[in-house]
Amino acid sequence: MEVKNSISPLFNSKREEKSFLNKVQPHTELIAALISGVIILFTWLSENYISDSTFVILHLLAFAIGGFAKAKEGITETINNKELNVEMLMIFSAIGSAIIGYWTEGAILIFIFALSGALETYTMNKSKNEISSLLKLQPEDATRISNGTEEVVSVNKLIIGDLILVRAGERIPADGTITKGSTTIDESAITGESIPATKNIEDEVLAGTVSLDGTITVKITKAAHETMFQKIINMVQSAQEEKSPSQLFIERFEGTYVKVVLIAFGIMMFLPYFLFNWSLETSIYRAIILLVVASPCALVASIMPATLSAISNSARKGVLFKGGIHLENLSQIKAIAFDKTGTLTNGKLIVTDAYFTSDSDENEVITISGAIENESTHPIAKAITAYSHEKVGNIKIQVNNMKTIHGNGVEAEIDGKLWQIGKPDYVGKQLAESFHDGVLSKLATEGKTVVFVKTEGKIVGVYALKDTIRREAKVAIKNLQTQGIKTIMLTGDNDLTAKAIADEAGIDSYIANCLPEEKVNHLKQLRDIHHNVAMVGDGINDAPALATANLGVAMGEGTDVALETADVVLMKNDLSKITNAIELSGRMNRIVKQNVVFSIGVIAILILSNYLEVLDLPLGVIGHEGSTILVILNGLRLLK
Ligand code: ADP
Ligand code: MG
Repeated sequence: MEVKNSISPLFNSKREEKSFLNKVQPHTELIAALISGVIILFTWLSENYISDSTFVILHLLAFAIGGFAKAKEGITETINNKELNVEMLMIFSAIGSAIIGYWTEGAILIFIFALSGALETYTMNKSKNEISSLLKLQPEDATRISNGTEEVVSVNKLIIGDLILVRAGERIPADGTITKGSTTIDESAITGESIPATKNIEDEVLAGTVSLDGTITVKITKAAHETMFQKIINMVQSAQEEKSPSQLFIERFEGTYVKVVLIAFGIMMFLPYFLFNWSLETSIYRAIILLVVASPCALVASIMPATLSAISNSARKGVLFKGGIHLENLSQIKAIAFDKTGTLTNGKLIVTDAYFTSDSDENEVITISGAIENESTHPIAKAITAYSHEKVGNIKIQVNNMKTIHGNGVEAEIDGKLWQIGKPDYVGKQLAESFHDGVLSKLATEGKTVVFVKTEGKIVGVYALKDTIRREAKVAIKNLQTQGIKTIMLTGDNDLTAKAIADEAGIDSYIANCLPEEKVNHLKQLRDIHHNVAMVGDGINDAPALATANLGVAMGEGTDVALETADVVLMKNDLSKITNAIELSGRMNRIVKQNVVFSIGVIAILILSNYLEVLDLPLGVIGHEGSTILVILNGLRLLK
């Protein structure tokens, strides 16, 4: 991997950057292991031609070169955590073997141990590479316009409010809004959406996406370390640093286990000598084999490589896990709750019908609704604003005291009069139901979201909005059902609309008229029934429910809050990826289980055969280290 100083915008501090670079130290570990292997082989082949002291010196060299990285790691960690670890145990075993004259076995022990260390580093690198391939998408320079002149500056220097120029074919260097020009943008790097989107003045553009055909001027809205792109990278990074509960369990258990092995070693050096009349030499020899084979190397390597492999595999497919724990949990999920707008549907609504009372000024209602909704970010608001623009052109109206009533609608004052726009319950159910000969139930049965405009105690207009169900949603739901997972839709929309959408998506059941805080309560109830429940959502109003669920899943297109609260992010907004992730999670748990059972089994068999006197030291070393390598390789299968 190319390591440049200029990647610094990715890291909050020098220290962070350094620790990152340390971990991606390229192949030195592997090279050291191989050199020690070559020395061992050479010494073994030339054993008869070299002097005893050369023999010892060569082995000492193999010890030092092969063991350096692991010994350093073992000693620093022992000092830092005040707890012995496997690395120390391996050092003791190798030294012990050398002391009783088994130089080659001691050196092989170190060689294979170093090799397994290199393999673990390889997995680590592999998932770090997923980040570095993302890194390449981040331009380092931007063309800033100040006082009418262009200058090329580093993206770090950009501040909120700066204007930058992006020409056709260039990658956009920062998050911002277009102030001049229009272009089509390829957002596939960030959202996975393969169809380019047309962006005009006031539209938002994201760092890392590519402007295809027009020159645009962009006003920066986010600092370099806060862009969407940066958030994604931070998520991948923290995912790798967070350890899963079973990994933590093994690590906690490691210290105690090592102590037990050392005590057993101390006792077993002499016990058989006294009990079974073994010679002291045999007794010590068997104790050293015990020390070698009882080391929990394989056990310690059972989980991390598997988890990292699975995380990077899934990141490649557009599902970001914020930690191994979530991957571990996913396969336990029994039910999944979905938000409607923006999750099951594309969240890009359009106004399909609009009716107004005959005694009100239709243009005035349209203008005012557009002006009020212009201040809201809800998908409904965007649709109504667009509709107004289309009907009456530019809107210049003073909107005062605009308020969002979450899960209900919005209200504001125009010329001292209160206007409310929102769902039937919000403007008054009876008024809404009788408006325009009961048009509400007709529109709602068609799966449309119906929103009323009310002022001075009277409903003056109604908008019907249609959203389209995501293509992958139906597939995803069907697959989840075959996996035996219950699907539930939670929505703030009314019952009829909810039913129409739920039927179309093929979802098992739905709960309509949910206020944001009610989504949380429903989720708690679902947890009581199904125990392990995931929630998929995109909006600010979904965040509390995402946090309440056993596993929160956010749509990549979703709001920042949703992305931050969730445990898993569907980068490509592709719901059908959930089923793949569940399978991957199941596969990972199975592999970890295999590894743990296998490692413990091998240890038990080796200890037993040692004291049945059928195992010698070379075989002990191979059995023990072989199992470690096998366990790591088994974990690496998850990369595929
Ligand atoms: P969802 O679960 O579909 O994402 P929300 O909780 O965001 O729904 O909103 C619930 C309902 O509140 C919407 O169906 C709509 O009737 C109303 N509503 C929310 N925001 C607005 C708005 N900006 N303008 C009009 N109505 C709104
Ligand atoms: Mg939503």
